[in-house]
Amino acid sequence: MASDRNKPCPCGSGRKTKRCCGVPATTAPARECGPCSACCTTLEVRALGKPGHVACPHLGDSGCSVYSERPGECRVYKCLWIQGKLRDDERPDLAGVIVDTYAKLQAVWGDAFMICEMDHDSMRTPPALAILTRLLATNAAVIVVTREGPRKFMTNDPAKRAKFAEIVERGTM
Ligand code: SF4
Ligand code: SF4
Repeated sequence: MASDRNKPCPCGSGRKTKRCCGVPATTAPARECGPCSACCTTLEVRALGKPGHVACPHLGDSGCSVYSERPGECRVYKCLWIQGKLRDDERPDLAGVIVDTYAKLQAVWGDAFMICEMDHDSMRTPPALAILTRLLATNAAVIVVTREGPRKFMTNDPAKRAKFAEIVERGTM
């Protein structure tokens, strides 16, 4: 019988409980968000019905106005920068992009990342290009989510490129 931790999280995020409100409180981030609130504007929050690239209605001048009651998906979200895996000056609000691991592709390929543009063409700026170049140098799979919506798949690994073409053909992505 499936444990409750494998069932959809009651907060409505669409994630499994173990990956949302059920994440143990000991997984403290390596850094503090500080003045960054990039994920509150750039990312979708399913529990709130908030689409991507639209500021959350709970985001005020001093940050989240419902901090103690914020949805589970907000509480557990940790971009790559806050995990300590990008340089100090690559915090999303400074770099113009949010970088995250892409769990759906990681299950297939190991290293897979998603880079979300915060603004039109922010992917073309030097900080964003530097991050992309470093990730591609490791032969990771990278999905770039542009501000306009289309997703671009990138990798230097021919095997991952071929696998991606198969996935697109099957329509499973
Ligand atoms: S994008 Fe990262 S650093 Fe910025 S507010 Fe979200 S979790 Fe914090
Ligand atoms: S509820 Fe709070 S933490 Fe979640 S997106 Fe809105 S402002 Fe950000």
